[in-house]
Amino acid sequence: MSDTVSMLKPAASNPATKPSLTDALVTSVNAKTAQVLALLKNAVVELKTLTFANSFGAEDMVLTDIILKNQLAIEIFSLDTGRLPTETYDLIAEVEKYYNTKLNVFFPQAQTVEFYVKTKGINAFYESIDLRKECCYMRKVEPLQRALKGKSAWITGMRTAQATTRASLPVREFDEGNKLEKFNPLSDWTEQEVWAYIRMFNVPYNALHDQFYPSIGCAPCTRAIAVGEDIRAGRWWWEDPQNKECGLHVKN
Ligand code: SF4
Repeated sequence: MSDTVSMLKPAASNPATKPSLTDALVTSVNAKTAQVLALLKNAVVELKTLTFANSFGAEDMVLTDIILKNQLAIEIFSLDTGRLPTETYDLIAEVEKYYNTKLNVFFPQAQTVEFYVKTKGINAFYESIDLRKECCYMRKVEPLQRALKGKSAWITGMRTAQATTRASLPVREFDEGNKLEKFNPLSDWTEQEVWAYIRMFNVPYNALHDQFYPSIGCAPCTRAIAVGEDIRAGRWWWEDPQNKECGLHVKN
């Protein structure tokens, strides 16, 4: 695995994170931001107990900024899998300082992780899709289920253009697996609009994005992408694109 990573890791700074702020782009971002804000405000009135799953990707930082700056009555939680990159932990600390807030972080069950590591190995997720999914389940899905308990709706930063597995992504849907409403307010945003928002409003973001990591998950399962590669190509890069979800957003 490590040979593939170092071979593909580009040296230059990623231009996608610094779009040119043309009038058209700024107008589009402002209009879409107003739509997101209206959507979230209406959702709070209708559904009361909303929670936002912040995984600290660029999209999630846009939503974090919108929620916190507008003091929306929406909880924010994050999942610490125990295998996150250093840069993500740095961002968590930066976000808490920048917004003067304390983040609500959920961890996997220690005993389950200990058993997996003892019986299958510390990096067993490279060995098969089943072992990878088992790791994602114990480190992400089970803590997510605890985070969603008692909520009427959750919010994600997913976009249609991120992956083939997200090709039809409504702004609002019913999450059959978790039995609650789910909002994807940035569904129709382009990558350029996400980065324009971050630059326009000086939002903190993960330093790995500047090093060609458009999608960031756990450190051992994320690599930089090469020019022209799909933006999710760096996630579980050894697997078929149709399988590349961690189980957090799988439909029943
Ligand atoms: S992304 Fe990798 S390390 Fe993280 S939970 Fe999934 S398999 Fe485990």
